[in-house]
Amino acid sequence: MIRSRLVKKLLFCTLSLGILLPWASAQIPGMAPPSTAQTSTPLGDNSALAREATGWLADLIKINTTNPPGNEEAAAKYIAAILQKEGIAAELLPLAPGRSALVARLKNSAFSDPSKALLLVAHLDVVGVERAKWTVDPFGAVPKDGYIYGRGAVDDKGMLAANLAAFVALKRANARLNRDVIFLATASEEGASDASIRMLISKYWDKIAAKYAINEGGNVFVKNGKVQYVAVQASEKVAVNVTVTANGKSGHASIPLRDNAVTHLCAAVEKIAGYTASVHFTTIVRRYFEGIAPLQDDEISKWIRSLDTTDRGEHAARVISDSNPMWNAMLRDTISPTMLNAGVRANVIPSVATATLNIRLLPGNTITALLGELNKIVNDPQVKLEVQPDAGLAAPDSSLETDFYAAIVKASAEEFAGVPVVPFQSTWATDSAQLRLHNVQAYGLVPFPLTEEDIKRMHGDDERIPAAAFAKGVDLMVRLVNEFAVSH
Ligand SMILES: [Zn+2]
Repeated sequence: MIRSRLVKKLLFCTLSLGILLPWASAQIPGMAPPSTAQTSTPLGDNSALAREATGWLADLIKINTTNPPGNEEAAAKYIAAILQKEGIAAELLPLAPGRSALVARLKNSAFSDPSKALLLVAHLDVVGVERAKWTVDPFGAVPKDGYIYGRGAVDDKGMLAANLAAFVALKRANARLNRDVIFLATASEEGASDASIRMLISKYWDKIAAKYAINEGGNVFVKNGKVQYVAVQASEKVAVNVTVTANGKSGHASIPLRDNAVTHLCAAVEKIAGYTASVHFTTIVRRYFEGIAPLQDDEISKWIRSLDTTDRGEHAARVISDSNPMWNAMLRDTISPTMLNAGVRANVIPSVATATLNIRLLPGNTITALLGELNKIVNDPQVKLEVQPDAGLAAPDSSLETDFYAAIVKASAEEFAGVPVVPFQSTWATDSAQLRLHNVQAYGLVPFPLTEEDIKRMHGDDERIPAAAFAKGVDLMVRLVNEFAVSH
């Protein structure tokens, strides 16, 4: 990768470090440190910092924060201790027994101005594991073949450690900040509960109020060994669960009944699964496709460019959707049947059968409209569709015109040798929706260059992060905070 600009900065920093070191570390016994400390930039050779942060990542993986029950407080305390060593006060924000978030702040002046502040966000909890399917201890942070294995290595303890590194780098450089920078570790992201960000915001908003946030949610996408593009999440789809209930008469299984609830449920689920919602272009999705079109092969590129045309748009959407399931999900509302429940024993026809549909709506589309369509398709008086109470909320998109978005684009392009940086609407949900609902311009990255294979392991077996990718992610986060929060 071309890194000539970085090399120059590295040289500069080595020089300035040489000057600064006697002041920074060698204190003469009995003498107070100089009262006006030198300020510097956190930019430079971050390899030592990345190695240190790799240790934090390993320790965080070893603290099992599987949600439920979460037990995030243990990880929050671990981070508080690291910050304390750096001379940064951290505060645990209790949410539920054993479940705390953590916040720490580097101030730019005595008076905090939330209308400028930047939040570095990552979550402490992880999803569960199917231990038998892992080839290593999921909570062992095992280093192997250049990777660090473990639950949360990518989602989201990697970013947690990288955010922490960038935050600590600002402090160590004694950087002159142009805004407050707030480090926030959230709880219960992987499953809503009383410890989730909604509760965190309602209880502790004054401690975390900010105008800008960087969180998980995007990608540094690697193909054929090269970073292909950086996708910055600025919007996300809305998750809604729907219960499909089929009712019928119960009876002895030896005498089949036409109104068998299981049969009616299966027919309904099959019809629903065959439904394809219509394409709806959001601004962000349009910009995403414009950005990645030149990176695709000629055929796909041609169809991407035809997506937004009246004559060929429909066919183009079909080709694009068939070629990539994620693209399909970016273009329309989607429905995945995920759970089935019926019956008590083999020889009894049950009176009720249920299925759960996990629906992902494009922002702006409503579940009422979609259910209207589905009811028409199912067309069965024995079957009812009901929205479950845990539905996500649609948040406004983050703007692509903010200085912070521009800083993310600049830092990413610098870090990855000028690759395209495109806005992204994730099909998955993150804590950012709640932040956006509170007027925070929140953006998503996972700052590590990852292949599709490694991305797939998030929430799957043998989750892992390449050690080199982690170091690049640390470098990117340092670059980003330096770009946006340090006065030059
Ligand atoms: Zn996550």
